[in-house]
Amino acid sequence: MCPEQANNEHATRLGSCYGWCRRCKQVHTLPMGHARDLCRGLMLELEQTKRIDWHVPPKQADPRLTTDYLFGPARGQMFGVMEYVDDRGQVGCAKAFSGQYNGIWHVDGWVGPLVDTSEMDRISRPVERTIKELGRTIAGLSDDDPLRRDLVNKRRALSKGLMKKIHGLYTVSNFRGETRLMADVFEGPGGMPTGTGDCCAPKLLNHAVHNQWIPLGIAEFYWGLENRSGSKKHGRFYPACTEKCQPILGFMLCGLADK
Ligand SMILES: [Zn+2]
Ligand SMILES: [Zn+2]
Repeated sequence: MCPEQANNEHATRLGSCYGWCRRCKQVHTLPMGHARDLCRGLMLELEQTKRIDWHVPPKQADPRLTTDYLFGPARGQMFGVMEYVDDRGQVGCAKAFSGQYNGIWHVDGWVGPLVDTSEMDRISRPVERTIKELGRTIAGLSDDDPLRRDLVNKRRALSKGLMKKIHGLYTVSNFRGETRLMADVFEGPGGMPTGTGDCCAPKLLNHAVHNQWIPLGIAEFYWGLENRSGSKKHGRFYPACTEKCQPILGFMLCGLADK
């Protein structure tokens, strides 16, 4: 059995969505359940329509939302499906892509990000502009210019500060009705990596809590050109990631078992 098969086996048996909960001192897990079959339906849709806005007529299709993007230099990305029961007992499914799709956060029919992206843009634009200007100035200085080191340090401090501010905009909710700053619940050895909270499982779970849905299962798969390290392959299922997702999923899944 190749590592990918073993990985898929593991994901099938143990559920792909889990994390350590500080409060309960145990791992909370959500199985894949029927979401795995629903993913296969989504794959078929992607394969046939070759775009992620197949809900709209072809004439209105957004050229940025074709799946060609996933087979280009940006390479593929993760997609996730959640099956849930709503507050009237109806079973439904919701879907998400990881991060942005070709620079776009919000696409109709897909669950959006945890963060208020207009607020994020408002905070980041002026800082990013300054960082770019600094970069240009730095490029024009010789290596032994003492000013160069100062500016490099200034640029580093600015981007670190910006990352902290952006992380401050991310809150996560769980099935006990608690909402916390994501940075406060993160159970990791180091700092929170960039992009924490932007994967499919956190998007889907947060959306479920806010709509009073009870998730029945989540499954995630990779679609597009294999990633550079070769750890993600087209059409394969993968568990929620170790670096960004598992450290927050324990908190996010807390209280679900009592529903
Ligand atoms: Zn992740
Ligand atoms: Zn718990």
